[in-house]
Amino acid sequence: MNRDWTRNAFVYLLIMVSLAVLFFNVPWSSQTPDGITMSDLARSVQDGNVQSLDVRGAEVRVKLRNGVEYLTRRESRVPISETLVGLGVTPEQLARVDIHYAAPSNSGSWFALLINLLPLLFIAGLFFILFRQTQGSNNQALSFGKSRARLFTGDKPTVTFDDVAGSDEAKEELEEVVEFLKEPQKFAALGARIPKGVLLVGPPGTGKTLMAKAVSGEAGVPFFSISGSEFVEMFVGVGASRVRDLFEQAKRNSPCIIFIDEIDAVGRYRGTGLGGSHDEREQTLNQILVEMDGFGTDTNVILIAATNRPDILDPALLRPGRFDRRVTMDRPDIQGRKAILGVHVKGKPLAPDVDLNRIAKQTPGFVGADLENVVNEAAILAARRNKRAISMAELQEAVERIGMGGPERRSRLMSAREKEVVAYHEAGHAVVARLVENADPVQKITIVPRGQAGGYVWRVSEQDRVLATRSHYLDNIAVALGGRIAEELVFGHISTGAGMDIQQLTQIARAMVTKYGMSEKMGPLQFGQQEELVFLGRDLAEQRDYSEEVAEGIDAEVRSIVDKAYARVKEMLSGNLNKLHAVASALIERETLSHDEFEQIFVGA
Ligand code: ADP
Ligand code: MG
Ligand code: ZN
Repeated sequence: MNRDWTRNAFVYLLIMVSLAVLFFNVPWSSQTPDGITMSDLARSVQDGNVQSLDVRGAEVRVKLRNGVEYLTRRESRVPISETLVGLGVTPEQLARVDIHYAAPSNSGSWFALLINLLPLLFIAGLFFILFRQTQGSNNQALSFGKSRARLFTGDKPTVTFDDVAGSDEAKEELEEVVEFLKEPQKFAALGARIPKGVLLVGPPGTGKTLMAKAVSGEAGVPFFSISGSEFVEMFVGVGASRVRDLFEQAKRNSPCIIFIDEIDAVGRYRGTGLGGSHDEREQTLNQILVEMDGFGTDTNVILIAATNRPDILDPALLRPGRFDRRVTMDRPDIQGRKAILGVHVKGKPLAPDVDLNRIAKQTPGFVGADLENVVNEAAILAARRNKRAISMAELQEAVERIGMGGPERRSRLMSAREKEVVAYHEAGHAVVARLVENADPVQKITIVPRGQAGGYVWRVSEQDRVLATRSHYLDNIAVALGGRIAEELVFGHISTGAGMDIQQLTQIARAMVTKYGMSEKMGPLQFGQQEELVFLGRDLAEQRDYSEEVAEGIDAEVRSIVDKAYARVKEMLSGNLNKLHAVASALIERETLSHDEFEQIFVGA
């Protein structure tokens, strides 16, 4: 605000000065003394009053015998003596005057030139500032076409593989690239073909950018990075020229790494409907392909690109000689999570009770960025509580915050009735989870509302699951039903709180039938072409490739799975009403139950 004001004042001042200078420009530049013409001068010479004349270009400095000096101008390029003779001065009279011709005075004309240019300079300055101003609000109006690739030179402190925890397989694959960048001759001598392009694939926050930087840090080579979305920006045709600039700059600094983040922004399948056909994007992509093909074996530049959407990339990008090497950065497993936590707690004071193993255990599905966030959030919490070190309590709370999105909303008032309903609902989930065989164990139950959820049962798998069985799915459906059925048994009606549960269990049941071939009636077939975005875990589109009859069969089968689960859970909870009541009343009283507390109540009831 304040800076804006001063800048505006400055601009107005510049405008005023420029106008003033323009206005007064004329008198400044013509400084001929009044009334002294050539004929005046001729008369003075005839009278013998003139001692000398210094002629510099058009300027004549006249020195009189009485010591007075003045300047006058001559009109033409004719030598001044001739002019004077023409005005009636005799050669004898002229001989008494010292006439010097000098090179045109630079000091004088420089000054005049400067005076003349001053307004121009002011105006130029004005425009410069105006442009700077427009640039501030909307960038790159002037620098279009110039690649905005940033150069991270090898001698800057860069990250190394040590900073990337967990992804050991990815590191191993990239080790080769590092070696090549360090000693390209070694590979060239054997005629080895080194990959030009490496595609880092993985969900957001798994450390793809970090890994690319680490490769350049390990090899000690410059790192040029640009983001796919930056390519597609302002003017048509700019993307392609940016690519050209980027590669040119990189070739000059080879060996080096070019990192293209979010390559799917430019590299998505050409000519498909997604996002419409976009000429600019296609040109940019084509330019990337052209540049890659232009690499000789002697060009020691390696391209690393990152994406979380490998499925939509143009096949031309993935052909041999282009991004033919694919390195997957998956969500970290429990060991990986522990290692990542280890990296991020480094240098932060930790209380002795901190057990990173337990935090890692509680955070399945978290990616590196989440875990970094957990540690940071915990540090902030600890600071706000005026603690000297981060303790388990803060880490735990941070995990819950980040896992649930948003801090606990203890301030939200809950009526006694509402609280009771939520308590029975969550107790229902927990009791069913404890009773079935293949569900993940209960870690924590709470009826403290947070984010969208009124309360939740937090279950954590013992180990990371790779293969899920049919009974695992069935038990998960049962657990999801537990909340709703508990409400039904105790209150005789159900609340809207079960909405998410219903959605979840329907998805599981449907997937069992259509995807995993787990239903007896429909058999081991897949129904519908499911274009699954592997790394987003979401169905993009389901194309029906089956008849109406089959559709009915699927619906019936899904329904039967859920119906059976419903009957099973109802029986289960009816037979364990005492346990349900015990857990629910403990929840109403304490709001939160840990694993051990829950276990005690469950067994004791
Ligand atoms: P991506 O590019 O895959 O979206 P980033 O590389 O930008 O993810 O990761 C964001 C941040 O998360 C990193 O700066 C880093 O602090 C943290 N992070 C992610 N993965 C890891 C990891 N494997 N080890 C350590 N830190 C990680
Ligand atoms: Mg990134
Ligand atoms: Zn629920």
